[in-house]
Amino acid sequence: MTTVDKFVQQVIDSPSDFSSLDKIYIQNKVFGLVGDDNAVESTSDELVDLTEALVQTAINNGKIEDSQSDKDILADQLMDLVTPLPSELNHTFWDKYEEDPEKATNYFYELSKKNDYIKTRAIAKNIEFVGKTNFGNLEITINLSKPEKDPKAIAAARNQPQNGYPLCQLCMENEGYKGRLGYPARSNHRIIRMTIGGNTWGFQYSPYAYFGEHSIFLDKIHRPMVINRQTFTNLLDIVQQFPHYFVGSNADLPIVGGSMLSHEHYQGGRHDFPMMKAPIEKSIDLGIDGVEAGIVKWPMSTIRLTGTEPNLLIEAATEIHNFWKDYSDESVDVRAYTNDERHHTTTPIAYKRGDKYVLDIVLRDNQTSEKYPDGIFHPHQDVQHIKKENIGLIEVMGRAILPARLKDELHEVEKYLLNRHNQIAEIHQPWADALKKQYDFTDDNVEDIVDQEVGKVFGRVLEDAGVFKWDDQDKQAFDRFIESLKASN
Ligand SMILES: [Zn+2]
Repeated sequence: MTTVDKFVQQVIDSPSDFSSLDKIYIQNKVFGLVGDDNAVESTSDELVDLTEALVQTAINNGKIEDSQSDKDILADQLMDLVTPLPSELNHTFWDKYEEDPEKATNYFYELSKKNDYIKTRAIAKNIEFVGKTNFGNLEITINLSKPEKDPKAIAAARNQPQNGYPLCQLCMENEGYKGRLGYPARSNHRIIRMTIGGNTWGFQYSPYAYFGEHSIFLDKIHRPMVINRQTFTNLLDIVQQFPHYFVGSNADLPIVGGSMLSHEHYQGGRHDFPMMKAPIEKSIDLGIDGVEAGIVKWPMSTIRLTGTEPNLLIEAATEIHNFWKDYSDESVDVRAYTNDERHHTTTPIAYKRGDKYVLDIVLRDNQTSEKYPDGIFHPHQDVQHIKKENIGLIEVMGRAILPARLKDELHEVEKYLLNRHNQIAEIHQPWADALKKQYDFTDDNVEDIVDQEVGKVFGRVLEDAGVFKWDDQDKQAFDRFIESLKASN
C-alpha cells in the first residue's frame, strides 16, 4: 500500500463523516492537496507520520513551499479529513455526556490528540522535574514546545486595534480556519459549545498542553478578561458540569495576568496542582454560614473557600475580590491605586473535593516601582535568570513553565560547576558562584543539584509574586486585611 492508500484507509476508519464508499473521493482530495507524483514513503503507519510524508510529497511536487507555515497549514488540512464536522462532534460529545461527563471529555481529548490538534510529540520534548520547597513539592517544567511571550508585548497586544480575522486565537472563528503566515493553522480545530453562567461558551483543548487534559474555555464574544462575580459564577458552573476538572482564570491586569488579556477565557483540566494540595494554615470566620475559609500555606497569598453551596462561595469570593480591589497597606507596599491606575485583582481557581466545592482566591498587585521596574510582586531581578515572564494561573498553582533557553543554559551552568570548558551565560554567574561555594560537584550529582536549586529559585519566584510574605510583619498585614474585610460586612 502507498502512503496515500494508508492515509485514505485511516480517514475511512476514523470517526470522521466518511465511509468506504468515499474511498476514491478522499483519494482525489488528497492528490489535490499534495499532488500525485513523487510519493514519499512514510516512516511508520501512524497518522502523524503518514501526514508528514504527504506534506513532504506536496513540497516535492511544488504544491507548497518548504516553510513551517505552509507545512502546518497542509498537515492540518489533511488532519481535517479524519475529524468529524463540528456539528457531528458536538452531537456525539453531548450524547456521551448524558451517560457520564468523563466519557465525553475522554472522547474529545482522544480525538484532539489523534488528529494532532494537541501536539503530543512537541509536548513530549518538555523537561519536567520536582522542586522541593518549604511549601511542598513544586512542579518544574522547561517548555520546549511553545515560546514564552514577553510581558511588555502582552501589555501592548492588549491595546491593539480590533481588526483582522479571526480577531484573536481564542475566537470561535478559528474553528476550521486555514491559517496564514504568522497565524496558526486550524483546519482540524473543533470547539464544543456549552452554556456557562447562562451564556454560550466554547470548550477546547490547548494545542501545547502544560499538563493533562489542559483545556480552554472561551467566551463566544471577543471581549477583554475581567474578574467579577460572573467569573466566580462561571468557574463554579464549569466545575459543576465537569466535576473531574479544575478551572481557573488568569488575573485581568497586565504583569499579574496571563498572555491573552483581550479575550475572556479560562483554563482547566485534569491535574492536581501543588497549591491544591497545600493545607490551610489558619482558619478565618467570614461570617457566612456554609462557607469554610482559611489562609493557605502557600507562597502566594491565597484564601481558600470551601462549601457544598456554589452560591455561597460566589458570595464570599465576590466580597473578597471587591474589598481587595480597594485595599491598601502602605507598610507592606500594597496599594490599590496610584494616580487612578488600578493595581489590585485576583486569580481564582475552582475545583471539587468530594462533595464540596473549593474556590481558591489569590490576591494580586501589579504595581511597579523604581526598585522593581518589572513589578513589586513579580520575580525580582536576582531570580530573573530563571524566570522573568508573568506569573500566570498555572504558575500561581505551583507548576513552573520555564523558558526553553534554560535547557542549554543550565547545561553550561553544569559544565561551569564541574570546572569544565563552558559558555555560562552572564545572568547565571552569581547564582552559579553561590552554588559552587555550597556544594562539591561531581558528574553524578551536578544535574540533580542544579534541578533542585532551580526548584528553589522557582519557590522564590512565587514568594516574590505573593503580596503578603510569610515573615511576621507581612503575616500581621494579612491578618489586618482579613480583619478589615470582616469589619466591612
Ligand atoms: Zn477573540
